[in-house]
Amino acid sequence: MFQEVRVRFAPSPTGPLHIGGVRTALFNYLFAKKNGGTFYIRIEDTDQKRYVEGAEQYILESLEWLGIFPDETINHNEKFGPYRQSERKDLYKKYADQLIESGDAYYAFDTSEALDEARRSTEAEGGNFIYNHSIREKMDTSLLLSSEEIKARIGAGEDYVIRFKTPTDRTIELTDLIRGSIKFDTNLLDDKVLFKSDGMPTYHLANIVDDHLMLTSHVIRGEEWLPSMPLHVMLYEAFGWDIPEFAHLPLILKPVGNGKLSKRDGDKLGFPTFPLEWKSEEGVSSGYREKGFFPEAVINFLALLGWNDGTDKELYTLEELAESFDLARVNKAGAKFDPEKNKWFNHQYLINKDDETLAKAFAPILYEKGIAVDYSTLVRIVGLIKERANFVAEFWDLGDFFFQAPSEYDAKASKNWKDDTANLMKRTSEELSNIEDFTSTNIETIIKNWMTENEIGMGKIMQPLRLSLVGALKGPHLFDIIEIIGKEETLRRIEKAIETLN
Ligand code: GLU
Repeated sequence: MFQEVRVRFAPSPTGPLHIGGVRTALFNYLFAKKNGGTFYIRIEDTDQKRYVEGAEQYILESLEWLGIFPDETINHNEKFGPYRQSERKDLYKKYADQLIESGDAYYAFDTSEALDEARRSTEAEGGNFIYNHSIREKMDTSLLLSSEEIKARIGAGEDYVIRFKTPTDRTIELTDLIRGSIKFDTNLLDDKVLFKSDGMPTYHLANIVDDHLMLTSHVIRGEEWLPSMPLHVMLYEAFGWDIPEFAHLPLILKPVGNGKLSKRDGDKLGFPTFPLEWKSEEGVSSGYREKGFFPEAVINFLALLGWNDGTDKELYTLEELAESFDLARVNKAGAKFDPEKNKWFNHQYLINKDDETLAKAFAPILYEKGIAVDYSTLVRIVGLIKERANFVAEFWDLGDFFFQAPSEYDAKASKNWKDDTANLMKRTSEELSNIEDFTSTNIETIIKNWMTENEIGMGKIMQPLRLSLVGALKGPHLFDIIEIIGKEETLRRIEKAIETLN
């Protein structure tokens, strides 16, 4: 049996990595870390027809952005390399031959026309076409040929595939670490193609051979691969190899309604389902990175899609996840994707970041707008507004008044500008202009004392003052705003509000 825990993420570069794929990679990574094992990446690119330029790079870059670093991957620690199946092409043939030899596989020479015809006639009789025991003897296979005949046909350059000869009348009972015991009736399985005469193995053969050669102890992958599990186990048996443990992860479901979250759902409903932006002829799919999500927040959110540690704890670092992760606590049922929760996680990570880091992230946005502000002020501003933000990009809307005077005033709030307001604002302005130590608490004490002494109600000053400085009744503590924009600017804005709103 397996000496150590070795798990893999084995994506096919057929397009950008969907969020479900990211979760599969994450759960493998966590499982490896938890068990002191190895996590490796193998690129399964034997299907040339589905190969998409740039997809491999995209997948690797996505995982790097998220901080999911493999112990072994392409160009890094390739102990059992190469880690790209197209570069291992030559080694699969002998395994296909081995199965022919042992009688577990056979050649099939059917042309695609013959296959279509067989399908048509089965269906015409009301049957369901499965290429298996029910039909294989009637097809153009090596099963009834002598070895000379087989050799001659292959020698003549005839196209063929090698199919697995699925055993008949067997119920295989398998154990999945998440789903428990599952039974499969072999009569319902088809004789899957393992190898083609163009020299390429199919996914099934390459996957099993490589999982074996790379000493994979656990196969953790998406639920869509569950139907392949009996074939894979039978292949291991046919080769006489140790069989890894299997765990099939639950589907990720749409936020509303039923069904699997599809690649298109994200942009249709306004949230990303890809780690990074992906541009293709079909258009642009938005990415978490470009939308301003923090990688740690994406990781945290994904970890809880289908798993929990049995407590109410929701915030985990990657290290904490690795410590707590347990396959036995992964749900069988699909996990609903909740875009609001997704944002909530980002908010949590945002407010926990220090103001310096956030100021640095905000600075380029201000720079774009041609706004210059000194760093320490920016750090303070960010500290005042971050509580209300999910993303750094929202800082501008939450705090634009720190950098520029309002160009208009909220209509509803302006209705509270009464006949005596202009006069009160003038008096406030005078009070403010006399304050020497222009710091938030000092300004607040002086203004509030002045209001009390003169029996002026709070609302009569505070609301119009906020409207004058901010343009709306929003924003953090008013006296902090006053200190930050400074005396001159405060007085100027009050004057302008009086002119405009009277
Ligand atoms: N290449 C397969 C995929 O694209 C891997 C499935 C597996 O993990 O066995 O998902």
